[in-house]
Amino acid sequence: MAGILVVFDFDKTIIDCDSDNWVIDELGFTELFNRLLPTMPWNTLMDTMMREMHAQGVKIDQIVEVLKRVPIHPRIVPAIKAAHDARCDLRVVSDANQFFIETILNHLGVRDCFKEINTNPGFVDEEGRLRTLPFHDFKKSPHGCNRCPPNMCKGLVIERLVSEEGGRKFIYLGDGSGDYCSSLKLREGDHVMPRKNYPLWDLISSNPELIKAKIYEWTDGADLERILVSLIHAIISNNGDGNDGSAATQLFAGTECKLETMPVSSHETLPQALRVPF
Ligand SMILES: [Mg+2]
Ligand SMILES: [Zn+2]
Repeated sequence: MAGILVVFDFDKTIIDCDSDNWVIDELGFTELFNRLLPTMPWNTLMDTMMREMHAQGVKIDQIVEVLKRVPIHPRIVPAIKAAHDARCDLRVVSDANQFFIETILNHLGVRDCFKEINTNPGFVDEEGRLRTLPFHDFKKSPHGCNRCPPNMCKGLVIERLVSEEGGRKFIYLGDGSGDYCSSLKLREGDHVMPRKNYPLWDLISSNPELIKAKIYEWTDGADLERILVSLIHAIISNNGDGNDGSAATQLFAGTECKLETMPVSSHETLPQALRVPF
């Protein structure tokens, strides 16, 4: 295992939309969703929506079919596979739910690339209704972070990962305001990849000196792949700490075949970190 932990947000990072909105919109429940949204937390609303949809005859198979055609940039799966082939430790930290994420990652053939998925529990109950529960039981034990929604503080997940895997360099990829708490927990020597012109990028840009990690913006899946692969290359070849020679060999073996399809030729150079206000 290389000395690198790669943490992916899911919605608008791995897939190119929000999975909750995608399912609601594709199955024709947008109006009800928008009507109920001001009345309860998002995560509670998703469970309520699944109850409504089940009551109106929507079957779990229909939800699965919709999830299988979720929009995704064609270079995302190769990027995940390249990081996995480089023996990085891949995790997901997402405010979607286990059922949506597992269904999509299995469909894409990359579920086994990920060691762990940290998200809201999601499962099909005995009546065939999809249930989603909060990641933190906020009624019993609130997480106490005022930056994050009541059901999930991603920063707490990162704190745990840092305490368990602190010897590794972290690369964190995300887009949303929920990813800001995570970004603040990264250390010097870690790397954060905010999606350009999305809320995480806006938050980081407004006060970049609060972020200890190096910052690399990206725009789409091709950009994500190029920067992620470059960073992994650079960490393994420049640092040497936390990994052995075989990991480096594995990286080059794993990415060599991809070099022809890489959109830029500068993949072996460390991308310029953005430490100054954008
Ligand atoms: Mg997201
Ligand atoms: Zn938080």
